[in-house]
Amino acid sequence: MICENIQNREGRLQFAGQDVSVLAREYGTPVYFLDAERIRRNCRVYKHAMNVGFERALPIFASKALCIKHVLAIVAQEGLGVDVVSAGELYMAKLAGVNMENIFFHGCSKSDEEIGYGVENGVGYFIVDGEDELLALARIAGEKGVRQKILLRLTPGIDPHTFEAVATGQLDSKFGVPIETGQAEAFLRLALSLPEIQVCGYHAHVGSQVFESQVFRDTADAMLAFIGSMRDKLGFVPQMLNLGGGYGVRYVESDPYLDIAWEISKVAGYIRRRCAQDKLQVPMILMEPGRSIVADAGLTVYTVEAVKAIPGSKNYLCVDGGMADNPRYALYGAAYTVLTPEKLNMPRDLVCTIGGHCCESGDMIQENVPMPRLSRGDLVAVLTTGAYNYSMASNYNNVPRPPIVMLDGSRSYVAVRRETYEDIAAREL
Ligand SMILES: *Cc1c(COP(=O)(O)O)cnc(C)c1O
Repeated sequence: MICENIQNREGRLQFAGQDVSVLAREYGTPVYFLDAERIRRNCRVYKHAMNVGFERALPIFASKALCIKHVLAIVAQEGLGVDVVSAGELYMAKLAGVNMENIFFHGCSKSDEEIGYGVENGVGYFIVDGEDELLALARIAGEKGVRQKILLRLTPGIDPHTFEAVATGQLDSKFGVPIETGQAEAFLRLALSLPEIQVCGYHAHVGSQVFESQVFRDTADAMLAFIGSMRDKLGFVPQMLNLGGGYGVRYVESDPYLDIAWEISKVAGYIRRRCAQDKLQVPMILMEPGRSIVADAGLTVYTVEAVKAIPGSKNYLCVDGGMADNPRYALYGAAYTVLTPEKLNMPRDLVCTIGGHCCESGDMIQENVPMPRLSRGDLVAVLTTGAYNYSMASNYNNVPRPPIVMLDGSRSYVAVRRETYEDIAAREL
């Protein structure tokens, strides 16, 4: 999957059916390429599997993975809803023409301004993270004469077995309200008492880059148990259950292969059986994939600027990008597959550290990668960079952010232009 069909007739790397080295010379480096058709296909996997598994279902794209107009427009065309976690992401969804009714507004610390902006723009659902937000939302919705639909974000107490930085479902998470402590029940009671609020359901998201089926089953289990218990206690049955995102993607060959359609069908079977047992009507099921929609649609290309061999120690390949365009290795040692677009078949007999451009020793793309012998001017490609790269990019060292070039069929076009020094200086007074 990671490395299938990667070589063209000239022996060079191809991506989305196009020659990476030709594209890199045309658009310059560093550069992000995005395979539009791959994004559409990933959306369809969710759409189809969820429509088969459930009577009522909606996949929602977690836009934080890659929040640009072109991508939001594609996922909306494919019939997905959109998650936002800030007014800034909401603004982008609005520019992309996403139907506001299909927007879900997340976040654990929304300001009054953000809440107001969401209500004014007719956001379909707020996913309310706690009581402070709930009361603020009720007040603001009341002022604007709106009865706001919401989901309650709950913490089901599940450990997703992933990087600590992206685990969110355990009891001590900063997100949501725990079920275990009884706080979720109090949260629900409060929400049901507010006339400005319409409680449509519950939400749980336990983590990201998760491969174990059991995690999603346990999450569904905990949520259905809560639904059953609140029905018995309060007579409240939600219309919607949002199971969050988090299905893992393959960054390197050693990552397990996850068949998302199959995983969804297993979760669906489990939910249907469990609801039948508990005499519950199956709620409308929502899922929030981010990474698994865009990660494998992305490829970043760099140019080697320096080759450095320290005898008896490390070999460095220093490239013209790094943590500023992809902070994931610096943040949590994320693994990536690194290829050489114009030297695909040369022996990879030199163990290298791919160092970045920034003035920070931790600025690396990857360590201990077997690479062919490269020189200044050679290209290096990093696969699976569509999620949490551009969206986490910074201007550290005043490095302009790379452009995003869309590849669609035989076409390529700039979706986001390269940042300029003027852009970086533009806000200074
Ligand atoms: C990050 C996040 C997602 C998406 O997670 P992925 O791993 O990118 O699929 C979905 N829902 C919530 C609430 C999130 O915070």
